[in-house]
Amino acid sequence: MSKLKHECGIAGIFAKNKNNNIIEKLIFSISKLQHRGQDSCGIAYIQNEKIKNKTALGLIKDNFSNFKEKSNIAIAHTRYATIGKIDIKNAQPYFFNNVAVCFNGTISANTKYKKILKNAGYAFDTNSDSEIILKWIFFKTNKNPNNWSLDEIRHILNNDFKNKAYSLLILLKDKIFAFKDIYSYRPLIFIETKNEYCIFSEDCATFETPLKKIELKGGQGIELNKNGYILSDPYNSTKSKKCVFEIIYFASKNSNVFNMNVKEKRILLGELLASKDNVDADIVVPVMNSGFWGAYGYSKKRGIKLCFAIKNNKNTLRTFIEKENKRNKTIDEKYKVIKNKVKDKNIIVVDDSIVRGHTVKKITYLLKKNGAKSVHFRLFSPPIINVCNWGVDISSKEELLACKYKSKDNDLIKELKTDSIKYIPYELFCKVFNENQWCHSCFKED
Ligand code: SF4
Repeated sequence: MSKLKHECGIAGIFAKNKNNNIIEKLIFSISKLQHRGQDSCGIAYIQNEKIKNKTALGLIKDNFSNFKEKSNIAIAHTRYATIGKIDIKNAQPYFFNNVAVCFNGTISANTKYKKILKNAGYAFDTNSDSEIILKWIFFKTNKNPNNWSLDEIRHILNNDFKNKAYSLLILLKDKIFAFKDIYSYRPLIFIETKNEYCIFSEDCATFETPLKKIELKGGQGIELNKNGYILSDPYNSTKSKKCVFEIIYFASKNSNVFNMNVKEKRILLGELLASKDNVDADIVVPVMNSGFWGAYGYSKKRGIKLCFAIKNNKNTLRTFIEKENKRNKTIDEKYKVIKNKVKDKNIIVVDDSIVRGHTVKKITYLLKKNGAKSVHFRLFSPPIINVCNWGVDISSKEELLACKYKSKDNDLIKELKTDSIKYIPYELFCKVFNENQWCHSCFKED
């Protein structure tokens, strides 16, 4: 996949015993969410009832490996920049008046809120949505944050940020609040362990076997405090719009998000893709890493050997979170084809999706250069033909390959220099991701 851009990872831990230090566990957890964003990172933590905050550009391992501070309550963030450029001032958690927040999602059209807040006398230090949300809560509650209640904040968010996508953590001196938007666009999971209450973007961040695990529902909030946890009611709606790309691409293969096992669903999508395909081939080659389990399902279903013919350079970043000017260079450095595995072979390449087409072009070129007889691309998501308004940075239709070549398969094949290209049929895709429960907006015309 010439990748989608988006993503942030959030994590919060509250120690059941106030004498326990959870910082090391939190660093472990947020590192497990590093795949969700690599631009900047940070931790906000409580010491003597005051919030301290450390943010940095780059990876967690490069900035927090020797972090020796202690705390029993803390939140952490890893950021991919969507709103606001890569700049230390936009790194999260964002901190204001002894409250810290971190956030995954977007409240696009944020200028409306900013204008109201500026008129009310609020100044802005960053370009991030987190700052707007936090100051909006201050503005609407108009009271000391020590008196904020779970339901009051939830009502403000649910009413004022309808149809926005957010999973949000708020750190106060003695508690953590967590909230999910009413349509449940982004995952957010509460986990109880023996000694902690935790809240994570994905459950792969867990450091030990959970005693309890709850995926928050749309519009629901949770409070973690010294007495335990309080789960609010969800928003009263039957429809959700969970982002399908959380399962297809963003989430770790080791995660369960939206109560789905990511690996199992990718295998199923590969099987469904294979069930409607009959192209002859000698091997099925996965595009690592997110294409792997789909390729596995495809190869199993069709009884064609799975072959690791494309090596992935582990040191390159995920290409969807690369900035445009670096993306092509990264793709060049990312893939290496093993010649003796592909020479004189007819090859099916399986990947999760196509956005701009750079990866398909490059891989086809490399396979043919190394002697492949034919290259057939197979994708286990439908064509992406529209922009995303909920935090995944597909910002213009012009950049989308499937949009450019709508119903012109021959032209598309010519441009990519593949022998054929096929997507999972939309009706099969809907069997896994029902449109009443999942967002399909980027597969549809306006
Ligand atoms: S439009 Fe696409 S990328 Fe955006 S939230 Fe919906 S499914 Fe996810």
